[in-house]
Amino acid sequence: MLKIDMHTHLLPPDMPLWAEKFGYGDFIWLAPGNEGRKRMMKGNQFFREIGANCWDPELRIEEYARFQTQVQVVCTIPVMFSYWAKPHDCLEMSRFLNDHLAEIQATYPKHYLALGTVPMQDAKLAISELERLVSLGVRGIQIGSNINNNNLGDPEFFPIFEACEQLNLAVMVHPWNMMGFEYMTKYWLPWLVGMPAETSRAMCSMIFSGVLEKLPNLRVNFSHAGGSFMGTIGRIEHGFNCRPDLVAVDNARNPREYLGQFWVDSITHDPRMLEYIMDLQGTRRVCLGSDYPFPLGDLEIGRMIEGMQLPENTVEDLFHNATMEWLDLDPDYFSAPV
Ligand SMILES: [Zn+2]
Repeated sequence: MLKIDMHTHLLPPDMPLWAEKFGYGDFIWLAPGNEGRKRMMKGNQFFREIGANCWDPELRIEEYARFQTQVQVVCTIPVMFSYWAKPHDCLEMSRFLNDHLAEIQATYPKHYLALGTVPMQDAKLAISELERLVSLGVRGIQIGSNINNNNLGDPEFFPIFEACEQLNLAVMVHPWNMMGFEYMTKYWLPWLVGMPAETSRAMCSMIFSGVLEKLPNLRVNFSHAGGSFMGTIGRIEHGFNCRPDLVAVDNARNPREYLGQFWVDSITHDPRMLEYIMDLQGTRRVCLGSDYPFPLGDLEIGRMIEGMQLPENTVEDLFHNATMEWLDLDPDYFSAPV
């Protein structure tokens, strides 16, 4: 069975020294690490050590084949978004990353699909890069759950979403720049608490501001199974009903009515939660995802789903139909000759 992992991250093996090139800022750069690994540095601060499976496409193909996975959807690591940078510098960096992602897709068309990145802090530049991505054959973008702490429902981002709908580009929303980060220094709390909250923040903002209402054909996928949104949908709906003066001010419908309009990935680490989400969303709106190659991901790609004794057509939906629909791929995309 065709298995597509729609949530994975990839970096180029080498990058310019952006801070030196632009003359400011804590841009990410790669320092040598132990045993061929690399250290991602943010200015002078260590961010994360990465191994070759973060940049070597052939090693990755070999690794995910062990889980009978044939295809990965690849996007950059959110810390690379650099929305805080000067817009033209962020555009230059986005183009560098996008050229690399598009090249991986073009070199290994049966194994990789790319999602680009764009300077969300400047709608005009972002849209120019969306148009370029289409010309490179890229089918979607990945964006952050907030843009310099502004919410995705803010009017300044609407033209970008409108352009995505018009250009038939899918959107993946990934948590990053977690709220309350500075108050959660222990226990990995920004990742365990902040990230799920960030995704719910993005979803509530896009729903209540009317983005999903005004753009019914915009195909958005929210990471980590929708974060805390799915587990708190009852509370969110009740809030909409009991305080419409606060929540229902921008012509959105009851939030529950948007379930199944958007997509989420399967990264729950909990079969019962995944069952619940499939119930809410419908199985064509839940995509196999792993967050490969990072340790908080579901790195035994699809194993949990395979152990759930689901009907075969449900597994087919999760393993490829949902992602094919999200990216608007022809059913024979992977079987047709290159
Ligand atoms: Zn991720």
